[in-house]
Amino acid sequence: NTFAEIDLGDALNLNIRRCKYVKPTPVQRHAIPISLAGRDLMACAQTGSGKTAAFCFPIICGIMKGNFPQRPRGVRTVFPLALILSPTRELSMQIHEEARKFSYQTGVRVVVAYGGAPINQQLRELERGVDILVATPGRLVDLLERAKVSLQMIRYLALDEADRMLDMGFEPQIRKIVEQMDMPPPGERQTMLFSATFPKEIQRMASDFLSNYIFLAV
Ligand code: AMP
Repeated sequence: NTFAEIDLGDALNLNIRRCKYVKPTPVQRHAIPISLAGRDLMACAQTGSGKTAAFCFPIICGIMKGNFPQRPRGVRTVFPLALILSPTRELSMQIHEEARKFSYQTGVRVVVAYGGAPINQQLRELERGVDILVATPGRLVDLLERAKVSLQMIRYLALDEADRMLDMGFEPQIRKIVEQMDMPPPGERQTMLFSATFPKEIQRMASDFLSNYIFLAV
């Protein structure tokens, strides 16, 4: 069982080889085929399990191979195709780093936006275009209120460390964010929820945000 056996597209498979990832971790081995098959997923995954690649690879692959409607250009609002929500600046930076490494020469552009840092540099990066946006919930709500980002074209949503985001009080922001994706046109949005624990609040979030999902515990 190796990455070479999973068809993620030539450019991504090459990046995986370059980064010396040979064997998928257990969460990757199960989550990646589920996501490639287009199913929603709720996965139990701890830090260090390789969960970042588990949600990044199918997103990068999907954007590389997908046929998406033309996105508006030349306006001050950007329309990412994928959103990865994470609780903290540090985790967002790590996800951004990983996603960027693996989207090298795929044509997929990844941008990160987190709170506790000046927004101007992040705005400049966004204005250059974005396919995958990695963001913390508070900063993203700010960007939505300024109409710098629109979520109307989101096809992939990943929620990382969902339990931590709830512990930090981000549930209202997350709900506000996901509501904007439910606005017309009705998208075929694919959603992945990763969490280390599964209290009732997380289960409720899963039933609210995911459709016909597969539960994965490794
Ligand atoms: P994560 O749980 O996503 O934070 O990943 C933990 C660490 O394992 C990171 O440094 C990754 O770069 C590394 N990693 C993830 N998947 C693999 C893999 N299949 N092979 C080798 N290293 C990996």
